Amino acid sequence: MSIRTTCPYCGVGCGILATPDGTGGARIAGDPDHPANRGRLCSKGAALGQTLGLEGRLLCPLIAGRPAGWDAALDLVAQRFAAALEEHGPDSVAFYLSGQMLTEDYYVANKLMKGYMGSANVDTNSRLCMASTVAGHRRAFGTDTVPGLYEDLELADLVVLAGSNLAWCHPVLYQRLAAARAARGTKVVVIDPRRTATCEIADLHLPIMPGSDAALFNAVLTALADRGAVDHAFVAAHVAGFDAALAAARASDPGTTGLRTADLSIFLDWFCSTERVVTVFSQGINQSSSGTDKVNAILNCHLASGRIGRPGTGPFSVTGQPNAMGGREVGGMANTLACHLEIENPAHRAAVQAFWGSPRMPQGPGLKAVEMFRAAAHGQIRALWIIHTNPAVSMPDADAVAAAIRLCDFVVVSDITRTDTTRLADVVLPATAWGEKSGTVTNSDRTISRQRPFLSAPEGPRDDWRILADVAGRMGWGEAFGWTSPAEVFAEHAALSSIAGQMGLDFDISDLAACDYDTLPPTRWPVGPRRRGGRFFGDGRFFTPDHRARMVPVTPRPPAVATGPRRRFRLNTGRIRDQWHTMTRSGRAPALSRHIAEPFVEIHPVDAADLGLEPAALARLSTPQGRAILRVAVTDRVQRGQVFAPIHWTADTAPTGRIDALVASVTDPISGQPESKAAVVTVAPLAPAWYGFAVARTSMNPDAVYWARARTETGWRCELAGMSPPADWEAWARSLFGLPDACCLRVEDPGRGSLRLAFTEEGRSLAALFVAPEPVELARDHVVALLGTAGAEILAGRPAQGQPDPGPTLCSCLNVGRNTILRAISERGLRSVEAIGSAVQAGTACGGCRPELAALLAMRPEAAE
Ligand code: SF4
Repeated sequence: MSIRTTCPYCGVGCGILATPDGTGGARIAGDPDHPANRGRLCSKGAALGQTLGLEGRLLCPLIAGRPAGWDAALDLVAQRFAAALEEHGPDSVAFYLSGQMLTEDYYVANKLMKGYMGSANVDTNSRLCMASTVAGHRRAFGTDTVPGLYEDLELADLVVLAGSNLAWCHPVLYQRLAAARAARGTKVVVIDPRRTATCEIADLHLPIMPGSDAALFNAVLTALADRGAVDHAFVAAHVAGFDAALAAARASDPGTTGLRTADLSIFLDWFCSTERVVTVFSQGINQSSSGTDKVNAILNCHLASGRIGRPGTGPFSVTGQPNAMGGREVGGMANTLACHLEIENPAHRAAVQAFWGSPRMPQGPGLKAVEMFRAAAHGQIRALWIIHTNPAVSMPDADAVAAAIRLCDFVVVSDITRTDTTRLADVVLPATAWGEKSGTVTNSDRTISRQRPFLSAPEGPRDDWRILADVAGRMGWGEAFGWTSPAEVFAEHAALSSIAGQMGLDFDISDLAACDYDTLPPTRWPVGPRRRGGRFFGDGRFFTPDHRARMVPVTPRPPAVATGPRRRFRLNTGRIRDQWHTMTRSGRAPALSRHIAEPFVEIHPVDAADLGLEPAALARLSTPQGRAILRVAVTDRVQRGQVFAPIHWTADTAPTGRIDALVASVTDPISGQPESKAAVVTVAPLAPAWYGFAVARTSMNPDAVYWARARTETGWRCELAGMSPPADWEAWARSLFGLPDACCLRVEDPGRGSLRLAFTEEGRSLAALFVAPEPVELARDHVVALLGTAGAEILAGRPAQGQPDPGPTLCSCLNVGRNTILRAISERGLRSVEAIGSAVQAGTACGGCRPELAALLAMRPEAAE
């Protein structure tokens, strides 16, 4: 029987039908009835079945790295938090949470910290994702309200994507937009310093200078005013601050955007002349030292033109994580309370305290993420609980954060597998995973969906809400945390939201307090009589005291750290199509490592030539905070003076690929969100003595200056490089593979300095190593596929003569290689993405590779090897 649940990855919040196979796995399909995806899934969602299973799971608590019983672990946690409170007060304890948590878990954590421990030191990795949007919304609307719906992207005539690589980061929403564009000719503008995959559907790409978004939207506001596109009636009736915002906009210099005048002029024309405009924005706006101002610069344009809250109009923040919105709703951040109530507001605090019957409440905001780890480093935080996030990798200045965790007196980490952060914990608590636990999540358009269990939880792990409640019970607050199911937690959360409704705020889901939790269908709030079409602000009524929206004067500021002669590259960071966060889940799926299997840095061809960097060579990146070694991808998708690197790799998968170790912990002064996309780095070639590529049935832990490993269907693959060759390659390889006795086949080319070793047993390959003085050229997917079958053939490194080499995988779902697609384009004269799909099936499953297929069509077909 299929169970309806929700994808645990991004904020699109796609519905899933999971059909257990009876052996601990499940077949995964898109839910045709879920309003977010109507049956679609992206490559990550489609591969969720490969991430199930118990391999690598934490199955019992650990105290000081040793297995322990639940009672001992929970007693210790309660005792150490109680001792910190007793000896050092509420400011000495903190929770660091995650947008991966279910709303019920988030609610319990927030209630425990704010209502019972009496501290507002509860923050979340959503601080790294969309805190600037929360702050911008609150400044403009009085509450953190997303005005629109996903449908608005399909109803708009112009969709502006600002700092959002929708094609790779919110793929199903991208597919919806692409389909609407094909059906009704929606114009799409992409504002991004980098030419991302999303640009394949852009009618106009604006390759803006990093950090100049506010200047661009100030130019839009000025143009709206100058071209008669301001909705003066709406502004007069519903908006405050228009004149000051326009004056600030007029004072800013659109030249700082670096855009060509002609491109800027087209954009201004389109924005001013199109009534149905949606501006989608994401991390490219938020992750900035002026992120809140950038958000308000966008909101100003929609408020001035009155294009908000009506079909096909509005600013639209898309969240990164599956439950960033649920975290916002329960107030799981250091500067919020619950149900969009304000922690600074005494009446709000008193109402929540009365509802909770809590003994103490913080009197103001607590420490935001960056401040929290600094406080831990300085001994101010004595007890810290980290839940479902990996800050030793994902926080800016990640090495300093890891050091702070080590320095903190007492650290608890709840997670499902070992991570860089669990290794630093005093106590590790094993939690139930997606597919085992039960709760709700809220997606980017305010739709609350159930995550339902479809697998039995293994013996050992427990639900997060129960773990938190058990600790609360041990601290003497059992009565207030005495729920017996997540349904009861949800009912309390929904009932509490009636206070927000009574106080005139947006988040009131009290009509759901008595819902049938088990069968609750996807439900977008507002609910009940407040529903009014599901959008906010079309009636011009905002959640400020006078019900008028606020336009905010914005003076653009460049990124906090300036480039200079020594550090002249601006480092943009982001995600790749097929991985999620620090790969603790997506890294388990072989299909998701086919597309990109190692960390890389994109650099412009002219900069690469200046630095003597060849494609596929290795580069060393450095900042005062940290160092990285990355594979070089030479491409004009990035501009000169800029480089791009993805965020996903960890000490487990590529120790020199931890990108956030390079990023300074500079934050936006209002939102506290770090500037994760504008570090200033030096880039230099690395000159290793050798490069290598290895495949093996078991994982590898190489002794090499550079390595990056990934799962495959046949075992593991690993890229390697070293500064000096080992004295005995065979002995080194035997140690790497843990194969002291296997038969070794060897092919050596002394003239080229290359060496190939295969280790076999009964004629079947167990492992192979390919070494050369330059980056190793191989048909890697072919070598991976041969592992475990052929013996000597694997040493050829490519298909036999006459057999086609499919090339690196481009379509992960159907495993179609780049060369196969290029050959089909060339030989069959294909002219469209649909024709490619008919010919070789690429792009016909999740559709996530369609932008790359379009890019191949634009290339010369002769590029096929
Ligand atoms: Fe999951 Fe992909 Fe849908 Fe995001 S777009 S929720 S990752 S299936």
